[in-house]
Amino acid sequence: MKTIGVLGGMSWESSLEWYRLANERVRERLGGHHSARIILDSLDFAEIEELQARDDWDAAGALLADHARGLERAGADLIVLCTNTMHLVADRIQDAISVPFLHIADTTAAAVLDTGIRRVGLLGTAFTMEKPFYRERLEAQGIEVLVPNAQQRAGVHAVIYDELVHGVIRPESRAFYREVIDELVAQGAEGVILGCTEIELLVSAADSPVPVFPTASLHVDAALAAALQEP
Ligand code: GLU
Repeated sequence: MKTIGVLGGMSWESSLEWYRLANERVRERLGGHHSARIILDSLDFAEIEELQARDDWDAAGALLADHARGLERAGADLIVLCTNTMHLVADRIQDAISVPFLHIADTTAAAVLDTGIRRVGLLGTAFTMEKPFYRERLEAQGIEVLVPNAQQRAGVHAVIYDELVHGVIRPESRAFYREVIDELVAQGAEGVILGCTEIELLVSAADSPVPVFPTASLHVDAALAAALQEP
C-alpha cells in the first residue's frame, strides 16, 4: 500500500472525516487489521483563513507548496489537499513536488461524468463558487456549472465559515441549503457538487432531489484507488 500525504486542517473538522473514511474504507477493502498509510500535515486554519481574507494567494501557494514538499520528504507517495478552496493554488503545489497530486476537482468531475450527468450545481465557499479555478476545471471536462445567486452564495459561504468549520451543525442551515439546492435543480441542475469538504457534514443525498457529489468522500476513494493501485 502506498502512503498518502494529506494536507489537512482546512478545516480539521473535514480532515477528521477524511481520515476516518480512508481508514474505514481500507478496512472494508483489505479486512483484518489493515488501516490506511497516511502522513497528515494539519495546518493552522487561522493562518489560511487570514491569507484568504487578504486575497494573498501567492503567500498561500508558497505555504502549501512548502508543506507539500515536507510531505514528500517524509515519504508520501502521493499527495492530496483536503479542501476545495485551496485548490486555487493547486499549480503551486504540483510544481513543488515530484509525486502525484490528486486534484479534488478532477476526482469530482470523474464521478459526475460516470453518472452521465452534464449539468451540475456547485456549492462551496465564495472563492470556489465565484473564482474561475474550480468551475473552469469542471467545464474543461464538459460539465456545465450553475451557482446560486449572490445572496444565496453569501449565505452558503457564511454557514461554512461561521458554523461548519467550528463543528456546528444547525438544522436551519440544512434547510437553507436544501432551498438553495432546490433552486439550482429548478434551473436545470441534474446533480449538485458539495464543493466544500465540510458541506457533507451538513447535507447528504437525502437532502437533494438529484444526486449529490460529496467531494471529500470522492477524494478519499480516488486516493485509496491510487494507494492500493486499484484499476
Ligand atoms: N474545506 C473547505 C473547502 O473545501 C473550506 C475551508 C477552506 O477555505 O479551506 O473549500
